[in-house]
Amino acid sequence: MKQEQTYPDIKMFIDGTWCDGSRGKSEAVLNPATGLAIGNVPHASVEDLDRALDSAWRGFGAWRKTSAFDRYKLMRMAGEKLRERAGEIARILTLEQGKPLAEAKLEVLLGADIIDWFAEEARRSYGRVIPSRSGAVQQIVIKEPVGPVAAFTPWNFPINQAVRKISAAIAAGCPVILKGPEETPASCAALVQAYADAGLPPGVLNLVFGVPAEVSSYLIAHPLIRKISFTGSTQVGKQLAALAGSHMKRVTMELGGHAPALVFGDADVKESARLLSAAKFRNAGQVCVSPTRFIVHKSVYEEFVDHFTSAAKNLVVGDGLDAASQMGPLANHRRIEAMEAFVADAISRGGRVRTGGKRIGNEGFFFEPTVLTDVPLNARIMNEEPFGPIAPISAFSDLDEAIAEANRLPFGLAAYAYTKSASVIGAISTGTESGMMSVNHHGLALPETPFGGIKDSGYGSEGGVEAMEAYLNTKFITQMNSSPT
Ligand code: NAD
Repeated sequence: MKQEQTYPDIKMFIDGTWCDGSRGKSEAVLNPATGLAIGNVPHASVEDLDRALDSAWRGFGAWRKTSAFDRYKLMRMAGEKLRERAGEIARILTLEQGKPLAEAKLEVLLGADIIDWFAEEARRSYGRVIPSRSGAVQQIVIKEPVGPVAAFTPWNFPINQAVRKISAAIAAGCPVILKGPEETPASCAALVQAYADAGLPPGVLNLVFGVPAEVSSYLIAHPLIRKISFTGSTQVGKQLAALAGSHMKRVTMELGGHAPALVFGDADVKESARLLSAAKFRNAGQVCVSPTRFIVHKSVYEEFVDHFTSAAKNLVVGDGLDAASQMGPLANHRRIEAMEAFVADAISRGGRVRTGGKRIGNEGFFFEPTVLTDVPLNARIMNEEPFGPIAPISAFSDLDEAIAEANRLPFGLAAYAYTKSASVIGAISTGTESGMMSVNHHGLALPETPFGGIKDSGYGSEGGVEAMEAYLNTKFITQMNSSPT
């Protein structure tokens, strides 16, 4: 099979050393723009996982005693290394994941900002003193690291999904065993390399790959693992949360969404269509907070559909390494099959294709930016997360109807709205069941702001001060200042 030579050799990182799987198993990594193999990713055996567990436990002993100030300094160095290497890592990310190079570079740079943020937060993991009922008693609350973390991250943002989990954990004093994405392993490995080059002690960060269900069932059940963090589909998240629950393990779940984007009659229609289409087709729609159900007031519906459709038609789709490309391929063949099934189902129920609807060529995994209208609520695309470049647009008549439609699904991750009315903003901000709401712009996923969902979209936050809490235990200590006589 033809190999592209510029892709790095992928290894796992266990106990401070890069290594292959001890049983020699691996799988091919494909370039989604060509469908051709570009490398191989090793699979961890149970012995490899045991080594990672043992190393993480030893790493915990040392890392929890490392001062917050020293953790901060090391992390800032890792962030700097990532920043310096952004150009080269972005190229690898595009090669294995498909997104345009400019998007890939932004992802790496944001990764460095995330490391910086958590480095700073390491120094602010404050406890507190609680006034006691007796002058002789002192009551204090301290924060302690929960212990070794098993983290599972997907292929849509190989750096970003991983950096949030590992940086919050490391800042809190926890070692991590990260099961990275097998489809996009090299950019994730480059992130781990930045931490290693900054001098992270062996065991504090381990990177493994393998058969996801085998690795997760082994690590989650293992007594040395104290905390689970997963990003992926709701279906898998529920299985892993159930397993973690049966072992009384703490969990953060960042799962799927189906974000409503409400456009009211008083909105700047052209501008909202421009911003929403850019957000919708970013990373070919493979974003958990992507706006995915466009719910537009009937008075501006046709105008919005026209602007949105022409934006979709004008998008340049191509290899992410080509500077002209605005949207790359889908990450894998499964997404092509999923898009074809969504479109066929919508058409069979009376949906209208305004643009797109088909795979582009038969090389790589390209799909046309697609706009659907007249899609009934029982169509699959109106109920299942699209995770691809399909935008269904429907109309509403009044505020209550818009909020009801926004809340109709079991998901609750992101929501978007465009309006000039303060009272409408107030009503939707409190009325929408979602973990995040972005009004008149797209401002989610910054390091310093909370990031997470409710309902079937999961629980826990991966941004802001809240993200540190996930990796900390709260311990209450009450002490008598003199021994009782
Ligand atoms: P999938 O559900 O098989 O995999 C999604 C991710 O979960 C992958 O990284 C995979 O390695 C991991 N995974 C799967 N089973 C696992 C297990 N038992 N233990 C541990 N990890 C496991 O599906 P897919 O085809 O890769 O993606 C399809 C759907 O996943 C998408 O439609 C989307 O809903 C969801 N997804 C969500 C995100 C996100 O950012 N929330 C990212 C990627 C995929």
